[in-house]
Amino acid sequence: MYDVIIIGAGVIGSAIARECSRYQWKILVLEKNLEVGEGTTKANSAIVHGGYDALPGTLKARLNVEGARMIRELAPLLDFPYEQIGSLVLAFDEKDEAILRQLLDRGRQNGVEGLSILSREEILALEPNVSGEVRSALRCTEAGIVCPFNLTYALIENALANGVELRTDEPVTGLNPEGELFQITTEKNHYHAKVVINAAGIHAADVAALLGETDYRIRPRRGEYRLLDRSEGQMVRHIIFQTPTQLGKGVLVTPTVHGNLMIGPDSVEVENPGQRPATTREGLGRVDALARKSVPNLRLDRTIRVFSGLRATPDTGDFMIYESKHNPGFLHAGGIESPGLAASPAIGRMVCELAAASGRLPQVKRDQIIERRSGIKAFRQMTPKQREAAIAADPNYGSIICRCETVSEAEILQAIHRPAGAVTMDGVKRRVRPGMGRCQGTFCGPKVIAILARELGISEEEVLKDSRGSRVILGHTKGKE
Ligand SMILES: Cc1cc2nc3c(=O)[nH]c(=O)nc-3n(C[C@H](O)[C@H](O)[C@H](O)COP(=O)(O)OP(=O)(O)OC[C@H]3O[C@@H](n4cnc5c(N)ncnc54)[C@H](O)[C@@H]3O)c2cc1C
Repeated sequence: MYDVIIIGAGVIGSAIARECSRYQWKILVLEKNLEVGEGTTKANSAIVHGGYDALPGTLKARLNVEGARMIRELAPLLDFPYEQIGSLVLAFDEKDEAILRQLLDRGRQNGVEGLSILSREEILALEPNVSGEVRSALRCTEAGIVCPFNLTYALIENALANGVELRTDEPVTGLNPEGELFQITTEKNHYHAKVVINAAGIHAADVAALLGETDYRIRPRRGEYRLLDRSEGQMVRHIIFQTPTQLGKGVLVTPTVHGNLMIGPDSVEVENPGQRPATTREGLGRVDALARKSVPNLRLDRTIRVFSGLRATPDTGDFMIYESKHNPGFLHAGGIESPGLAASPAIGRMVCELAAASGRLPQVKRDQIIERRSGIKAFRQMTPKQREAAIAADPNYGSIICRCETVSEAEILQAIHRPAGAVTMDGVKRRVRPGMGRCQGTFCGPKVIAILARELGISEEEVLKDSRGSRVILGHTKGKE
């Protein structure tokens, strides 16, 4: 029997798990995918928004501003990549300038600091590659960029270090109230819990429907992106937005924490969220045209990857975070579209407070909490002296598996053997970056497969790219029977 079961191990479920681990509660996180962070959390703009965009008085506004501050404090504590580079929202005409004034006003109401309006000359002094057509911009020095995968791994690893349990590859298929408890049915097990938390991303409304709850619907919206080579990473130094529309914050041009340049996303409603999100010629065409409006000299032929993500857009317009009236003890953390990443630590704290206030759980905190977590040290970022010392301590640091990103075997082994470690090629890639570079895994892919097979005790044919059934090697063409 568990005190708390959390359904979904995206950034939100992981942030909730970490906050709840401060209490003496027996907690289980159930995730349907093979790894944590493989839902919306894996494909987004990776921006820690300042908080001027959301309507004052909404949960989005409050939790964005709180979450952005918490991320800043958590980054050194939990050792994930984050940079407060600031953002500019560009205005190209009078209509845009009216929107900038509105955003400035909203930002001030939301309590965002570091906001100012810049003139054309000030913008071009900061960002010489921005279009000369620009008239003015809203600057927000509070905004930043983060690695969404490593933020999520940091949160879940810290939760596990404080006693939380995690079971992946276990989709929840049934939920039933049983007296003061809930019975949770998965494809593999039955569990009981006093409190159930729904953090199922684009599937949150489906999970709520298992209890007959239909307060909100999720309308998934796809967003497509291009990721450009590191050679383009210096094109801009801030996150460059255009004015937002009803469909989202518009197409941005931004450096990433890994030194690449990213452009996107567009916003298109998707009929079937079960379908794998894909990129389209039309979607990328829209992204290219809009991104070039902000930064005309973009070298799109330096694209190394295109990808898309699905927004969990709720039909209510705001995050849906509350305790169910019909099923006390069932907590919703649904409809977490943008700025969900930025707000994630604050959402974690709010949901944990709701759990504590449910009256179903002891209000006792743990005597000792592990506050810090160390990330995997990247060979690429070490000085020559540090590299020497790392190889002396662990010779696997001397074996370079990914040449584009200079990833050593030691890092890959850590990625696999950590708590909530990688079990797929994409899991390794997201944790330590083999295959994230210019050749996109053409050279290192077979080596990563061999390491995964050896370390997981499976055959190379059984190694998966990301999800169930996503085998990479279907058979040998020579050399083996
Ligand atoms: C295009 C795009 C751009 C974005 N840009 C930004 C940005 O720049 N800044 C920002 O702050 N936010 C951004 N967001 C929003 C942000 O990515 C999300 O708010 C956040 O990732 C949501 O996390 P989550 O944990 O709720 O969802 P998810 O990451 O989808 O996690 C939900 C998890 O629940 C699991 N699950 C579902 N059903 C079940 C079940 N039945 N049983 C067990 N597990 C289940 C899923 O497998 C999944 O792992 C963007 C989103 C998109 C799509």
